[in-house]
Amino acid sequence: MSKAHTTLIALTESAYLGRECKNLQHKTCPIGFKPRSKKIPPNALGRAILGLVDSRVTLTQQEQLIAQTIASKADALLEDLILHVGTKTGGFNEQGIEHTRELLTSRLVALGAKHTQVDPDPKPEWLLGGKPGGYMPTTSICERLNGARSGRVLIAGHMDTVHDPASDFNKLTISDDGKTALGPGCVDMKGGLVIAVAALEALEECGVSANWTFSLNADEETGTYHSAQALRDQAKLHDFGLALEPAMPGGELVVERMGAGQFMIETFGKSAHVGRAFTDGISAVTKLGECLVAVGGMPDPQRGRILNIGPLKGGPVTNGVPDHAQAWGNVRFPDQTIADEIATMLDALNTSGDTLPGVKVHRSFNRPAKPLIPATESLALQARAVAEGLGQKLPFAKTGGVCDGNILQQAGLPTIDTLGVRGGGLHTPDEWIEIPSLVERCQLLAILIARLSAGGSES
Ligand SMILES: [Zn+2]
Repeated sequence: MSKAHTTLIALTESAYLGRECKNLQHKTCPIGFKPRSKKIPPNALGRAILGLVDSRVTLTQQEQLIAQTIASKADALLEDLILHVGTKTGGFNEQGIEHTRELLTSRLVALGAKHTQVDPDPKPEWLLGGKPGGYMPTTSICERLNGARSGRVLIAGHMDTVHDPASDFNKLTISDDGKTALGPGCVDMKGGLVIAVAALEALEECGVSANWTFSLNADEETGTYHSAQALRDQAKLHDFGLALEPAMPGGELVVERMGAGQFMIETFGKSAHVGRAFTDGISAVTKLGECLVAVGGMPDPQRGRILNIGPLKGGPVTNGVPDHAQAWGNVRFPDQTIADEIATMLDALNTSGDTLPGVKVHRSFNRPAKPLIPATESLALQARAVAEGLGQKLPFAKTGGVCDGNILQQAGLPTIDTLGVRGGGLHTPDEWIEIPSLVERCQLLAILIARLSAGGSES
């Protein structure tokens, strides 16, 4: 083993030495680190790295320096995560989103990026929870391209979470053993944002002139309606896309995703008093029921044709024939052919003219499928090579979940999109992070960005 590697391992270990407080002034560390101790045995991660690095020494000296620089920032990464998790960005919380934007973009601007904000596009009003007239966040584009016409990396992050800003689940809580923490958005994707900014700072510190743009939107969890066009425009100006969604439970990198869309079936009837004029009425709810039975026959999960329906709404009272009803649903598809099949089947429910009962189908298949294409596979293999150089493993996976990577790749940008941190419980009050993944995934991201900036993915 080279001397540089021994140093790397020692530093990586020290980053995790039960995460001790480095501030000698602290009797009790405000973020819960243990008091300093004199001698600590190597922890499990350090041993794992010791076991793996021997056989795969593939990092250059400069890359080892990048990894060391990041390992030395383990405490800062966690402190930054505490700050971001404690800043509430769910539910279109303007204050939290704008504060987060300021925190992140000011650091990117300090690295020389030019920050512009792209105005939001409106979203369809028929969407569930589509409140017209509310706060619509802009999309921040922080561009630090170095002039080269190749190796241009677009890093895509979202500042929003699914968590209600009024809920009690509003800060990062570190476990007793210090290995994990719970918090809203800690993996999806505050952890990803934290490591990406730190990775770019570490590259700068190590003298690597990387070629990047960082896009930050705040509506990913609600379908990216406000920012999709901004992302598509950026996709065309770059060569590689890296999105900061959390890794899969085993640390896997997602290389293939289904597409997704939304629909709403709206039915129209004629209202009437149930006791006095029942036969004059035409029930929109009954008509909706017929449509729901039809939709229930549409899925073909073997082929990846998926439709889910609910919630439903119809009729304000029980003693009046309802003249209006609605059902919202979600679809998933592995490719455009199946997407088109679903669209045709849903559209066939529409009635024409003013006949009652009437049916109108609204739909928006806003997340195109993201099949595995050769350019994305090549990019994923580049990421795996970096991971292995760091003594990490990077298996590949596919998922029915969707993200902004779907949009970027359809716009022509080969994209891998689970380069964020590891953890689980996404979109639940049990969302948790593996704390050591902050350093590990930051190292992976930084070295990958450096390699892509330097020459693309020919290897
Ligand atoms: Zn996410």
